[in-house]
Amino acid sequence: MSAINDSKTSAGTQKPSFRTPDAQGYYGKFGGAYIPEMLHRNVEELRTRYLEIMHSPAFKKEYQNLLRDYVGRPTPLYLARRLSAQYHTEIFLKREDLCHTGAHKVNNTVGQILLAERLGKRRIIAETGAGQHGVATATVCALKGLECIVFMGEKDIARQAPNVARMKMLGAKVIPATSGSKTLKDATNEAIRDWINNPNDTHYIIGSVVGPHPYPDMVARFQSVISEEIRTQLKRETGEELPTHVIACVGGGSNAAGAFYHFLDEESVELIAVEAAGHGLTSGMSAATTQLGRPGVLHGSKSLVMQTADGQVVEPHSISAGLDYPGIGPLHAHLYESGRATFLNATDEEALRAAFGLAKLEGIIPALESAHALAALDQLSLNEKDRVVICLSGRGDKDLATYMHAMEGGL
Ligand SMILES: *Cc1c(COP(=O)(O)O)cnc(C)c1O
Repeated sequence: MSAINDSKTSAGTQKPSFRTPDAQGYYGKFGGAYIPEMLHRNVEELRTRYLEIMHSPAFKKEYQNLLRDYVGRPTPLYLARRLSAQYHTEIFLKREDLCHTGAHKVNNTVGQILLAERLGKRRIIAETGAGQHGVATATVCALKGLECIVFMGEKDIARQAPNVARMKMLGAKVIPATSGSKTLKDATNEAIRDWINNPNDTHYIIGSVVGPHPYPDMVARFQSVISEEIRTQLKRETGEELPTHVIACVGGGSNAAGAFYHFLDEESVELIAVEAAGHGLTSGMSAATTQLGRPGVLHGSKSLVMQTADGQVVEPHSISAGLDYPGIGPLHAHLYESGRATFLNATDEEALRAAFGLAKLEGIIPALESAHALAALDQLSLNEKDRVVICLSGRGDKDLATYMHAMEGGL
């Protein structure tokens, strides 16, 4: 079986698949490629080549070997007995936290570096906010001996020192974005400018299911290994291939897209996406894009975007850096609008409590992002017949300072 297989269709369904966008990259009314003229050549090259490359046997073999021997896949599907007892149901954790570099992001960067090689690109650029995607990119560039340039807001460089150090140790060059708010969106602008100026030798690795077509589809396919493994593992554990619920947190939406992918066209499976409510939906400090956003264009695709009445992008807030994003991938905007997935949200405080709860119940310290998915358990009415899979997107080492602060505050 292939991690990037799109040929599987669910038996008897004639409806269009939720999995793949149309030829222009639209999921329903969201997606597309809204890019400056100067980027057309780069994006068009990627669009015409990505499927052919991803489906070639040599690519699949190298990708699968690296996922196994370098990333450490398959990641376990772990039956969390004490957590299950607390919610009177059966809960499995998909352990993306055990991936090399500590999160699911590397599934995508490994895929894109192999793609870049086959496109003849020797120079890799990326943008990063908290630094997690920058680290995952720097990692695979070291693996392949490719030049790596990571754009990062000056403000983020100052507040994410450990990840900056990791990137540098891995051989990447970290370039500060000094314009605007000196954060992620300014870093993105710098990366786009660089790509325009270096169209021949450079590939731009985007870290989530966002950006112009074909990025959302390409990243979803690379992350789909998560749900492919869940199906096999669940079948082996329980005799049933399908869970009743799949729960994942959503920043841009890549771990959720990967965890949902092979269940998108299985109507019996309830898909639950959990956004960051920050201090609360009405607090003005939130990142729950489906609840607060309107249709708009952000980072090259049409999706839901948190914006003011006159279309200015609103600065989001979440305690977890990975969910602190004012948009959402177009696939998820479509899952929301069509009702295929349920969108819940958890506050900073609820996520913190869920993280401390899992640590004590199961001996697993989750990433703060993943803790949002765990917090959603309190909002569902589950019973003993349910088989719930939660995507544990990453581990909590990177969040220790926040957890220490929370313990000082009495949690
Ligand atoms: C980056 C990150 C996320 C959010 O990104 P998605 O694209 O929504 O998956 C979630 N969890 C962890 C651990 C992350 O590092």
